[in-house]
Amino acid sequence: MNIINKLTDPAELISFRDHVGKVMLQKMSLPLKPSKLNELTASLLGAKDWNTAQGMLAKKEATWDVNCCKRCGSLMDVMGFCVDETCIFNDWSQEIDSEEIYYNNECPEELQSEWYKTKKRIRVEATIAIDDDCFEKFDAAPYFMDALINGKLEKVVLDLIEIGWRGDYQADEVAMFFELSESGVGYDNVIAVFAYLRIKQKGFEVEISSSSLKDWLLQNHPSVLHSMNIDF
Ligand SMILES: [Zn+2]
Repeated sequence: MNIINKLTDPAELISFRDHVGKVMLQKMSLPLKPSKLNELTASLLGAKDWNTAQGMLAKKEATWDVNCCKRCGSLMDVMGFCVDETCIFNDWSQEIDSEEIYYNNECPEELQSEWYKTKKRIRVEATIAIDDDCFEKFDAAPYFMDALINGKLEKVVLDLIEIGWRGDYQADEVAMFFELSESGVGYDNVIAVFAYLRIKQKGFEVEISSSSLKDWLLQNHPSVLHSMNIDF
């Protein structure tokens, strides 16, 4: 039974976990270590593990009920960022106050604060190349978020390390993900490359920036990075 879909945001996950902890202690006289309690909670909810449960709720929060940018009205991509590159919400979560950003641009100390850092978009830089002088850049973060939600993130990262971050099927898959209609909003350039390739019957090569993926993992799911116990 999968009841995690009934939860609406990360705070609900935490409060359910605390409730489970209380029940185990008071009704069963079983005090649980935090990590054990997390995993038990995830399992009760039907998620693969705690990281997966957290990822599912984080994504839901980012896209829940927000389909248009509150400033410019443009569409939002699957990560919950405005697709208009000239808009402040192309780089920042809709949770921030846009006026605050405009007026604080001269003294941006506040933007360096921990809370703001978690609201700023970190792109996973990727390139799809037809040949040396013809390529398109794109943000591959939604692909990795999708892998996290489906419990495949560790395998995806390990596979990319193995192929040296480029040139093989595991890298191609990253770009191909954006051909899907539900993940392709804001990815017209990648979709256009694939359309061109099909007409011209040409091959392509995809490369992922490992350093930007590391930054993204540090912001979004540091526990995944730590649990992999590898450096790249
Ligand atoms: Zn916007």
